[in-house]
Amino acid sequence: MRPIVARIDSAALAHNLMVARQAAGSTRLVAVVKANGYGHGLARVGQALRAADGYAVLTLDEAATLRAQGLSHPIVLLEGFFHPDELPEIARRRLIPVIHRDDQIDALARARVEHRIDCFLKFDSGMHRLGFAAAPARAALQRLRALPQVGQVTLMSHFAHADEPEVGVATQLADFRAATQGLTHAVSLANSATLLRYPEARGDWARPGIMLYGANPFAGQTGADLGLLPAMHLESRIIATHHLRRGEGVGYGHAFRAERDLKIGVVACGYADGYPRHAPTGTPIMVEGRLTRTLGRVSMDMLYADLTGIPGAHVGSPVVLWGAGVPVETVAAAAGTIAYELLTALAPRVRIEAT
Ligand SMILES: *Cc1c(COP(=O)(O)O)cnc(C)c1O
Repeated sequence: MRPIVARIDSAALAHNLMVARQAAGSTRLVAVVKANGYGHGLARVGQALRAADGYAVLTLDEAATLRAQGLSHPIVLLEGFFHPDELPEIARRRLIPVIHRDDQIDALARARVEHRIDCFLKFDSGMHRLGFAAAPARAALQRLRALPQVGQVTLMSHFAHADEPEVGVATQLADFRAATQGLTHAVSLANSATLLRYPEARGDWARPGIMLYGANPFAGQTGADLGLLPAMHLESRIIATHHLRRGEGVGYGHAFRAERDLKIGVVACGYADGYPRHAPTGTPIMVEGRLTRTLGRVSMDMLYADLTGIPGAHVGSPVVLWGAGVPVETVAAAAGTIAYELLTALAPRVRIEAT
């Protein structure tokens, strides 16, 4: 068996949910489990987070996977529905679509459904991704409330700068409050960054994602700074070693050349496993429990680790690509991306081992 494995730690997921609970106070938590539970496996994550008050996904298939696990929580569909044909199943499975366009309300008005459908009504408070501007949102709310197909309506918005402390959520929050003045509906505003940093914007239903998987949404920090535990450990082994003489190159393009004589290890992990190809020489990696650096260009199935200072390293030595001791945030930052992308890009060919 090829030695690469992603170990998924269910206890870490449950622990991180508790950290979110502590930040949330009485705010209820919709665990965001889109993108296959941020790469950790939807069914497994759904079970590990069953103490959440609800889940958020994108598709009916994802919602069906959660229901098949026996999970009867509220499930929010973050992009709503894509076609009116989906409405009967949404009603039958008691899913909660996000309503962000007028034609979705037209479709609800025409739908024959066996139960009322609870909805999240999305206000665009400045991100300009999904949702209605202030005045059309009030009109949309009036329409929704008049429909016999519609049950409870929760008012929702999303912040563009919650993870950037210099900007924050104040402007969007003020615009959302102005747009919803006088309304007594429940409100859902907060992703992980908002939940952690802006208690005034917690709302009634928060929507944490990344923090549940143990990663920190703020640049330059790691999950450990928040008491979070990594839920994914991407591990492999050394499958070959070489001695490079000073000046010799390694890998495609000889993107790394030895500054001095050194010993390197070839690791069974490449970009086709989800490791970022843009991770340059110097990206942190752990071999035999010792932090070291990657060398040269990541190839499809392999990459290189500097074994200087790890005299015990040999073929078969354990390697941590990210997880305990190698925060996924630091690997992501080295590659010019964010932990979200690395976790969700874990390739299907990587064996998952659940603990
Ligand atoms: C993905 C998503 C979230 C979760 O965001 P995190 O930064 O992972 O906490 C919350 N709300 C919406 C609308 C999203 O699309």
